Amino acid sequence: TSYGFKRVGAGDKQSLVNDVFHKVANRYDVMNDLMSAGLHRLWKDAMVTWLNPPKRPGWKVLDVAGGTGDIAFRIVEASRGHAHATVLDINASMLAVGRDRAEKKGLSDNTDFVEANAEGLPFPDATFDAYTIAFGIRNVPRIDVALAEAYRVLKPGGRFLCLEFSEVEMPLLDKAYEAWSFNAIPRIGKAVTGDGEPYSYLVESIRKFPNQQNFADMITRAGFDRASFRNYSGGIAALHSGWKL
Ligand code: SAM
Repeated sequence: TSYGFKRVGAGDKQSLVNDVFHKVANRYDVMNDLMSAGLHRLWKDAMVTWLNPPKRPGWKVLDVAGGTGDIAFRIVEASRGHAHATVLDINASMLAVGRDRAEKKGLSDNTDFVEANAEGLPFPDATFDAYTIAFGIRNVPRIDVALAEAYRVLKPGGRFLCLEFSEVEMPLLDKAYEAWSFNAIPRIGKAVTGDGEPYSYLVESIRKFPNQQNFADMITRAGFDRASFRNYSGGIAALHSGWKL
């Protein structure tokens, strides 16, 4: 059986996701390059360009489902070493890889790593200037709860940015993409980790995630103002933005 085609409840879903990332933590970064043919780097760079972190001290970002730190490191670098980034993830194995990478990059003073659930953030209200989440919200069982938490921990004037796989809006590309994701991705997963099934689950989760407009509406319902989005690579990925005003 493939995970993707079973009906799973919220708790089951989270434990499947946790298994996947415990298994791949050490190979996660190389896997990302293989599975997205390197595109994830461009999308992440574009996300941080849109965020445009200020080049002054005292500005704090929370990167949820931050995994091995890709977004957090880019933000700190874009702020010329001024920003402070908290990487939050539910998975200790992913965070351990992130901590090592921070040390190697000399960014330990600008980053910290917190093991917690996006659905219950261990921070007081109005703590952060920005909240980012990249390829993470799709894995969270209750997206509306995660969005409410994002809103709560942001300061008034704070920015919400979410990068996620989305609905491909180019007629030929969508067929190619479907072939790629249903065949190549589980195969690469199997070749690198010895098990393709978890990847079938992840691919299925992309298909189930709300499209660009529906996700923008969810962001608005969570209380954010000026919800908007832009597509990358024909909608393979989309970046959503909202403001807590
Ligand atoms: N943001 C990183 C990136 O773009 O490279 C990592 C993305 S990875 C595809 C998804 C991450 O979401 C994993 O590290 C996983 O452990 C984390 N995750 C899954 N469910 C979560 C939850 N409920 N709360 C926090 N993190 C979660």
